[in-house]
Amino acid sequence: MTVQLVDHNLSDEAVVRAARVSTLGRSSGGARTTEEARDKGLIGFLMRERHGSPFEHGSLTLYVEAPIFVFREWQRHRIASYNEESARYRELRPDFYLPAVGRNLVQVGKAGSYRFEPGTTEQFAIVDAELVNAYETTYRSYERMLSAGIAREVARAALPVGIYTSMYVTMNPRGLMNFLSLRTHREDAAFVSNPQREIEMCAEKAEAIFADLMPVTHAAFEANGRVAP
Ligand SMILES: Cc1cc2nc3c(=O)[nH]c(=O)nc-3n(C[C@H](O)[C@H](O)[C@H](O)COP(=O)(O)OP(=O)(O)OC[C@H]3O[C@@H](n4cnc5c(N)ncnc54)[C@H](O)[C@@H]3O)c2cc1C
Repeated sequence: MTVQLVDHNLSDEAVVRAARVSTLGRSSGGARTTEEARDKGLIGFLMRERHGSPFEHGSLTLYVEAPIFVFREWQRHRIASYNEESARYRELRPDFYLPAVGRNLVQVGKAGSYRFEPGTTEQFAIVDAELVNAYETTYRSYERMLSAGIAREVARAALPVGIYTSMYVTMNPRGLMNFLSLRTHREDAAFVSNPQREIEMCAEKAEAIFADLMPVTHAAFEANGRVAP
């Protein structure tokens, strides 16, 4: 999984500036923020009280490479803009996802309250062999169709959701926090989500970038149970 920062204009100051217009009105115009401690307090207050709109100013653009099944989940988040590699206009490369050793393999319990436990060495070998077999077989079909002159948009129907693709995604901090809240599993969160591990791996990378760019906002997000404001 790849999640890289492409572009951004995020800052904790932007949140403070946007919030201050509500009390300062026109006199807030273009004002830079002043006191660090006061700004921190204001961001904490906004997060706690779920005054969300000051967190909508700014945008973060990420470049992501992940399997199609991860993109299907990510792109359910509508408060974002997406541009994805086209399998109509270009031939997809044979890059496929294989779970790393250590990825939990066994689902225990029932829908809504299940958990995942480690697989045995034998189960890992089965996953590896079956996925490699499926990937090789389907990619060969794809290539045969392309060689026979079939359009990429038709031939791609043979490809599995484990194939990698790429996209640009742009989110504002509020939309991003909603994404992080839902796509990471944290026992100490106010709402404990149970996302698929692969999208969580992407979310963790996105969160590291976010925490670096907006440390005060990120700390307030953590302190308030990782609930998006
Ligand atoms: C663990 C997990 C399991 C899931 N399982 C399934 C599943 O089995 N099947 C399935 O279909 N989906 C599933 N989803 C997807 C889920 O239902 C959401 O579509 C997805 O998480 C996007 O969340 P969102 O709507 O909050 O995000 P966004 O679309 O980014 O929206 C952000 C916020 O904006 C507001 N908003 C956006 N659009 C609207 C609207 N049209 N009306 C009102 N308010 C709006 C809401 O407050 C929303 O929280 C799952 C998600 C998770 C995290």
